[in-house]
Amino acid sequence: MSTTTDDVRNLMVERQVRARGVKDARVLDAMRETPRERFVPSRLNDLAYEDAPLPIEEGQTISQPYVVGLMLEAARIKATDRVLEIGAGSGYAAAVMALLAKEVVAIERFPSLVSLAQARLEAINRTNVTVRQGDGTLGAADRAPFDAIIVSAGAPEVPPSLLAQLALGGRLVIPVGHDVRSQELIVIEKSGEHRFDRRSLGHVQFVPLVGTEGWASDGAAVAVRRAPLDLRLGTRDRAKIARMVADACEPFGDVRHAPLDALLARIGQARVVLIGESTHGTSEFYRLRARITAALIARAGFKVVGIEADWPDTAAVDRMVRKRPASPLREPMYARFPTWMWRNEEMQEFVSWLAHRNDTLEPAARAGIHGLDVYGLNNSIGAVIDYLARVDPFAAEQARERYACFSPWERDPVTWGRAATVGLTPTCEQEAVATLKSLLEERLRYSRDDDDAFFDAARAATVVGEAEKYYRAMYRSSRDSWNIRDRHMFETLMALLEHRGSDTRAVIWAHNSHVGNAAATEMGSHGEINLGQLVRERFGNQAYLIGFGTDQGTVAAASNWDTPMEVKEIRPSHEDSYERILHEACRMLPAPTNAFFLPLKSAHAPAVRTELIHPRLERAIGVVYRPETELVSHYFEANLPAQFDEFIWVDRTTAVRPTNLPPTGEYESAAARTAAGIESIPDTYPFGL
Ligand code: SAH
Repeated sequence: MSTTTDDVRNLMVERQVRARGVKDARVLDAMRETPRERFVPSRLNDLAYEDAPLPIEEGQTISQPYVVGLMLEAARIKATDRVLEIGAGSGYAAAVMALLAKEVVAIERFPSLVSLAQARLEAINRTNVTVRQGDGTLGAADRAPFDAIIVSAGAPEVPPSLLAQLALGGRLVIPVGHDVRSQELIVIEKSGEHRFDRRSLGHVQFVPLVGTEGWASDGAAVAVRRAPLDLRLGTRDRAKIARMVADACEPFGDVRHAPLDALLARIGQARVVLIGESTHGTSEFYRLRARITAALIARAGFKVVGIEADWPDTAAVDRMVRKRPASPLREPMYARFPTWMWRNEEMQEFVSWLAHRNDTLEPAARAGIHGLDVYGLNNSIGAVIDYLARVDPFAAEQARERYACFSPWERDPVTWGRAATVGLTPTCEQEAVATLKSLLEERLRYSRDDDDAFFDAARAATVVGEAEKYYRAMYRSSRDSWNIRDRHMFETLMALLEHRGSDTRAVIWAHNSHVGNAAATEMGSHGEINLGQLVRERFGNQAYLIGFGTDQGTVAAASNWDTPMEVKEIRPSHEDSYERILHEACRMLPAPTNAFFLPLKSAHAPAVRTELIHPRLERAIGVVYRPETELVSHYFEANLPAQFDEFIWVDRTTAVRPTNLPPTGEYESAAARTAAGIESIPDTYPFGL
């Protein structure tokens, strides 16, 4: 072992563990003497001393060093103790315990992890540890009682078997929570034959404890979430609530013909309308959303359409629809995963409609389309430099030099974020900030000739700065990166409203998870904010938040990030979900009805709102859909009427229709236009207003 590794490890123990309040000298020493890098997959060696849990084999995690220290201190392990660990995982925590106790029994569910942990422990001579395969929720009766039991996975309740295997005076340290993804770390001490004292060490996040006395498994190594009691009781009233929904909703047969008048009346004078979607690949959502948007533009004067897409790519679409001079992109438009989100027939129809409609209008009256998202680093860098090259070649050179900071990584910002976070490469924060600042300082000079072009470039420079922060935060915490992203969307919206004039009205397209008020969902309790919440806080009743949902059908989604799009079957909704209620409501309507609008504001539907206000599960399908693990990976708890002002339900849905063509860009070519079927689309289709 090199000195440097020792140094890094000592620093880790000092800064991450001791500085946060773990004082037990034996625990700190044992951590100093245990090479954590030997317990992570080799590709993560560089990150072994990060202040974070890390992924290990079988989709499990090695705990954050601080949490290991905290648990072991709380367990007060003596040199004569016999200790049981449930969830050996990498074997790291067991290796530390081996130095604290006389002997350690560690149980692990996955056979492959058992062998890995055994090999890793042997390699560093921790011979007083036995790793065995099995269901740890039942403990190890043959070796009981234990002076300390450490559970390294999150349990729904304290497994009675483990309590029974504690010696008198023994300590059980265990994360417990009804939410499969978040727990309270609890210490239970057996202070008398039938007496247990209990205290909490705070909030933690562990992978689920799957077993007889833990979370149930569906046979595919997946933890099935048991709904909390109040949710389960709610199931009883489902038929009654579904009936109320059926009475309150406005049914329609087909998204092409859904009447929009009543919805537009409810939207009224709202300045910002947010339209969500519960998947990123459902044709009906795209089509109805486009029709609503077209109606808002044509009948209510909306001038800004903001979408969950990259700024520079969407700026190219905007230049086309608002008849502004084109400007090349470094990378092809919407070519980044997930391409089907914006390269699809539904989007082409809308863009084509918007372009035609703007034909006859004055520039100031034309509605534009803009990307709100924080991705698209490379095209944004290109947009800033190209713009400056036109208006100020000297400044372009300076920007090129500053942005060179990103150049080794432009195509792989995720890896860059990780490397910058651990100090393997410098951050590019100053360079990004300085470029934006120089640009803004020249605002008056630059924007004289073409204010729109200046605005585009300034937003692109903002994206570079925010993306820089985003990719670094992504590695640190998913909450921080999420919040950076949604704040950026909000700031972009505000900038657009200001740019287009004070009375501008905007419609936003993004996933339900960005659009529905996060404070009304599980996200809020994890400290996540979102665009919908920020808009609600800023605009109050002048914001109208709409969600879309479905029960089953097909959806365009990938199995993993960056893998090809597939058309997947959506599983029928879960019985504890809002979706199930809306599905049942649909079946109570006079046939044949596949869809409805459901107003949720108390002014429009007081009774339904009151019934639906009790939290339930809600499904979110993103660009990745994993039906096999649906309950854990796609459902979260929400309070629907607090999340949205209106919900649009399409019971059975079909996948969006991807094309190889971007929605514009190839418009110059008649052949491409014909290939995209654009010329065959009548002006008003499918938005006959
Ligand atoms: N202490 C580990 C943390 C591993 S994560 C370390 O330092 O690396 C939790 C582990 O618990 C996972 O490997 C998971 O497979 C395991 N696990 C979950 N349920 C279990 C059960 N019922 N019995 C044994 N192991 C279980």
